Amino acid sequence: MDAKTFDSKSLLDSLFENGILFESGIDGLYGRSGAFEEVIERFERLVTRLGAPDEATCIHFPPGMSRATLEKSGYMKSFPQLAGCVHSFMGGEREHAQLLGMMADGGGWTELQKATDVALTPAACYPLYPTIAARGPVPAQGLLFELSSYCFRHEPSKDPARMQLFRMREFVKIGTAEQVRSFRESWLKRGRAMIETLDLPCEVDLANDPFFGRGGKMMANNQRDQGLKFELLIPVTSIEKPTACLSFNYHQDHFGRTWGLKFADGEFCHSACVGFGLERVALALFRHHGPDTDAWPAAVRDVLWSV
Ligand code: ATP
Ligand code: ZN
Ligand code: MG
Repeated sequence: MDAKTFDSKSLLDSLFENGILFESGIDGLYGRSGAFEEVIERFERLVTRLGAPDEATCIHFPPGMSRATLEKSGYMKSFPQLAGCVHSFMGGEREHAQLLGMMADGGGWTELQKATDVALTPAACYPLYPTIAARGPVPAQGLLFELSSYCFRHEPSKDPARMQLFRMREFVKIGTAEQVRSFRESWLKRGRAMIETLDLPCEVDLANDPFFGRGGKMMANNQRDQGLKFELLIPVTSIEKPTACLSFNYHQDHFGRTWGLKFADGEFCHSACVGFGLERVALALFRHHGPDTDAWPAAVRDVLWSV
């Protein structure tokens, strides 16, 4: 993991060779070593400690969510290429025999499966909004949540920082436009300061998402022009194209209107979220400080090993 091997394929190989990640045969699905998990655990504690004064309500969601919720959220309009839905076999004896026959022939058999009510969660905050809307009006001071979830995105890649299954930790603020914007501002500062204490080079930049299709270009431009998304970037697999490790999103009243999230006076809520890509932060730490956590700079160990 020296500076010469700064491309995605060789970084991935070096992570395998050092026993930090383990191959599964599928790009973007990896086993993680104990050391890698310890780094994630310690980083999560750091994040939680930083957010502690705000007294967020903590919710851990499973990696699957209601498919109906995903549909209503508009995800299939924007990112159909990334979504994954869980399918299961629901036939009887006859269909089962047919399925085994198809498998024995080495052909396709998955057409005998049907979509279940479960979709894989693409971002930790998607399951939150309907859950909160169902609880009634949002109090005037707004609501704050700390979430964590495994997420799925169908984007197979040799870049170890682009996984298909990865974890996201998020803080989500639901409130007035002013409340959620100031929440995002404060995390932009805190996030950058936190990454700097870990001795990682970083920059914050405006961002836009890969919205699907021709209409997607317009949505991406709009997202940029209105400053709806910022990212904190750290070089992981490339210096020229650093990796988004934290993201800071302002949804305006999109989720408020979609889910009927309102204040007692009937006004729709705005929302914003800050997302921490846990595997990406861990990879950045290993990339910059080396494969052996015992040999990491004392200042970095002081920060991570004191929480
Ligand atoms: P990118 O531009 O690199 O595709 P993104 O804009 O899609 O990232 P977000 O949708 O903002 O990322 O997701 C929140 C956080 O989740 C990101 O800041 C990143 O740290 C992490 N993340 C996103 N996609 C992946 C992935 N494929 N593998 C690992 N972590 C990811
Ligand atoms: Zn979010
Ligand atoms: Mg992406």
